[in-house]
Amino acid sequence: MHEKCGVFGIYSLEEDVARITFFALFALQHRGQESAGIATSNGKKIQLYASMGLVSQVFNESTLSQLNGHIAIGHNRYSTTGSSRTCNAQPILVSNNSDELVIAHNGNIINAGNLYPELLGQGYKFASTTDTEVIGNLILSSTEKSWVDRIRYAMHRLQGAYSLTILTKDTLYAVRDPFGIRPLCLGTIDHGYVIASETCALDHIGATFIREVEPGEIVMINENGLTSYQEPGNRRALCIFEYIYFARPDSVINGRLLYSARLAMGENLAKEYPVEADLVMGVPDSATVAGIGYSHQSGILYGEGLLKNRYVGRTFIEPDQRIRDLGVRLKLNPLPQVLDGKRLVVVDDSIVRGTTTPKVVKMLRRAGVKEVHLRICSPPIRYPCFFGVDMATRWELIAAQKTVPQIRHFIGADTLGYLSLEGLLKAVALPRENFCMACFTGDYPIPVQLEMDKMALEARNNASISLTSKRR
Ligand code: SF4
Repeated sequence: MHEKCGVFGIYSLEEDVARITFFALFALQHRGQESAGIATSNGKKIQLYASMGLVSQVFNESTLSQLNGHIAIGHNRYSTTGSSRTCNAQPILVSNNSDELVIAHNGNIINAGNLYPELLGQGYKFASTTDTEVIGNLILSSTEKSWVDRIRYAMHRLQGAYSLTILTKDTLYAVRDPFGIRPLCLGTIDHGYVIASETCALDHIGATFIREVEPGEIVMINENGLTSYQEPGNRRALCIFEYIYFARPDSVINGRLLYSARLAMGENLAKEYPVEADLVMGVPDSATVAGIGYSHQSGILYGEGLLKNRYVGRTFIEPDQRIRDLGVRLKLNPLPQVLDGKRLVVVDDSIVRGTTTPKVVKMLRRAGVKEVHLRICSPPIRYPCFFGVDMATRWELIAAQKTVPQIRHFIGADTLGYLSLEGLLKAVALPRENFCMACFTGDYPIPVQLEMDKMALEARNNASISLTSKRR
């Protein structure tokens, strides 16, 4: 399961904004490893550099030194719409005869498929296959005079998740959809302002957190300082998976440190599913903290039974079949010296398709583990995500197809316990109304039924088209 993207923005007359953006993207690298990009403006001219790869592979002294100005935005990408290729790397520049802007996006627009032909009909050109370019062109297409009103126009037409940083020649904008599905925060730095997907980016560049960008808010930052505009919204729907898995444990969202939330998830799992065991471990890295929480609550010793190769990121070198067969071994290495003969509690963040977990269980058994008691920090995922998380279709989700006892049998664990919704909400310590939990409940904050029906229809049509062409 992957998050789509990290975004950043800075307005400062006193900083090397491209360099600060580089280090902020470095701190947000966990949100996307396919491509990275930075755009800057000196008030007159916009410059942009984006390419495939990790932030440290895309940028060097030479590329950074060509990005001048006092405003910058940056982006790390993981693709959920649009394929993984250079033209889809962000930020994306869009322009018409009179205006241009650069846009960086975290989220997913569910009605992009409807807006795209409309914009094409108006003569807008598309250089990428992303929904982000649809947002940019939609803003440009507005007949309103000010950029804020043009962004407002786009917000009224867009359905879905979007946390955006936008750069025009002289102004930085931050925009968050009215549900606040993806996080976005605001900070100060040396007489300037910064915007970031997560607070950990602010910490790394020495910025000070001010507050979150509110759902439905447009923040405008320019030579006159900061101005905020608020669009109305019906409800909040922050993605609860930010707490379980996506965001870094040293980030704070809604006033809750993610480390504390994950610790509490592990503690609540131990209360809901106690078991006699010799050792607890979290699957590294995302479930390490929850594993410690389970250990605290249960009194069972915490240990590290699997080591993760932290440098296995995305690679553009295709593995050959022999390497591919190694599967999880490329990422995880068990410690038989620690595991042999143990009754083990294994804490993990989630089970999506159920393709990796059986391999991990098998690997642990091969290392001599006597019993595997699997504990999951989320309820079963039964519904797909339409808001920027690359999960799976409903038919690929193991919990949509099997009962919990069937899943336990399938993955080969001795016992299996999923954290309840109530246990999860207690751990994040915020009321239910704040969150999107649609992948557990099917209760989407935005009606997606129409889109789902359409996708099913398209899939059916495509299937019959390919069948027809095969027959021919
Ligand atoms: S459906 Fe699930 S993964 Fe998607 S935004 Fe909602 S909570 Fe997050």
